Amino acid sequence: MKFPVMKQARNSLYRIFPGLFPLPKEYYNWYGFINTSQWWDEKQLKEYQWKKMKEMLAFCNQNIPYYQRVFRNMGIIPDDIMTEDDFQKIPFLTKDILGKHTEELLPIGINRSKLIKYNTGGSTGMPLIIYKTNIDDTIEKAFTNSQWARVGFEPKDIRVILRGEVIEKNKLWKYDPTYNSWIFSSYHLSKEFITQMVNKLNNIKPKFLHVYPSSLWVFANLIIENNLKLHFIPKAILCGSEKLFDHQRKLFSEVFGCRCFNSLALAEQTIHAGECEYSNDLHIFPQHSYIELVDDAGKIITEPGITGHIVGSNLHKYSFPLIRYLSGDMAQYAKGPCKCGRHFQRFSQVEGRVQHMIVSRDGRIIPLTALVFGQHLQAFNKVEKMQLEQWHPGEVNVKLIKGTNFNAEDVQILIQQLTSASENTILFSVSFHDELERTSAGKHKFLLQHLPINYYNFDQNS
Ligand SMILES: [Zn+2]
Repeated sequence: MKFPVMKQARNSLYRIFPGLFPLPKEYYNWYGFINTSQWWDEKQLKEYQWKKMKEMLAFCNQNIPYYQRVFRNMGIIPDDIMTEDDFQKIPFLTKDILGKHTEELLPIGINRSKLIKYNTGGSTGMPLIIYKTNIDDTIEKAFTNSQWARVGFEPKDIRVILRGEVIEKNKLWKYDPTYNSWIFSSYHLSKEFITQMVNKLNNIKPKFLHVYPSSLWVFANLIIENNLKLHFIPKAILCGSEKLFDHQRKLFSEVFGCRCFNSLALAEQTIHAGECEYSNDLHIFPQHSYIELVDDAGKIITEPGITGHIVGSNLHKYSFPLIRYLSGDMAQYAKGPCKCGRHFQRFSQVEGRVQHMIVSRDGRIIPLTALVFGQHLQAFNKVEKMQLEQWHPGEVNVKLIKGTNFNAEDVQILIQQLTSASENTILFSVSFHDELERTSAGKHKFLLQHLPINYYNFDQNS
């Protein structure tokens, strides 16, 4: 909507009649399909999945330059892929490859004005660019809402969102009429603001909290430490986008008196999975994507209890299709069937990403997602790797492996952009390196956090 007055009027209407403006028709078609097909038997689900996969492979062969080359190099056409064994010969798409061939993964001649560009974390700490369209968002929403319906969610239900977001003008919250939700600032999680935030929460009485576990972990600890009381019981806490640790699940249930409902959905849309009415296993939607689990050598894992890399292939995302994509997440299959009766594969454990937090000068705990990945930093185009290190509250050193064109002016711009994103509560310095510290498994570490405060200690019981 172009006119602010109209937008204001629309917002007021939404506020009085949440859900007045319906979701697009496609949403209802998808929602209906998902709800019916979730009870299909294994054979029906497999047949549907394979049919969609074949359609996607044919589309890639006709429209996606990257896959045209892959198939040419393999000396095949998609019609040659008759079985799952054939499919497994398609090379994995790693984050490095995605980063190098982003534009070649777009369909030839796509109307770029319809594309929405966004960032997701890459394997070296540098963000990757991913594209999507409105229809991709609509489909994703139908899957999400179908999953949340298992704990009683309806789209009109009032929600409070705490997912690493910064609210403009340094506010503590704002109302988003589109989804009848209140977005709480993840930049103000401190003793100074917690009472105001809890009062507001008691006033809203949300039916659901939709959170990053790391942000709610800080929030819940502040409630306890400041002896604050909640005057409502939500139906459930909807967690996602990060690893949910057992100690977090336990604390959230104690503080809010309800169930935590975890899910796994990636920005790349190569997997969508969630808990069910009865179990904490993540039920993987076979109608959404084609999932494989592989070991370090790329060999398929089928047995439960063995940790492997999640490999996902889009079945419906024609704007930027990813086939056999290694997201970097690791999981194990769960044993036996589930009481709910869905014939879905399930993950019992997922080693998702751990959200990184840094501390500002005034003691606020700030998630790095908002501070760094949300900023579209110019430097991302010019450095090879980035790592942040914190020894003292309010001070962060940015360690860089430079690319060829990175110069003194870029350093200044980087510091300015980060400082302003932190609202001047963090002093940034920059240092250059040839190598950056890695985990014992050789993975890139995005943050070296040396502050010994229990908030950062997400791994404590795992
Ligand atoms: Zn189940």
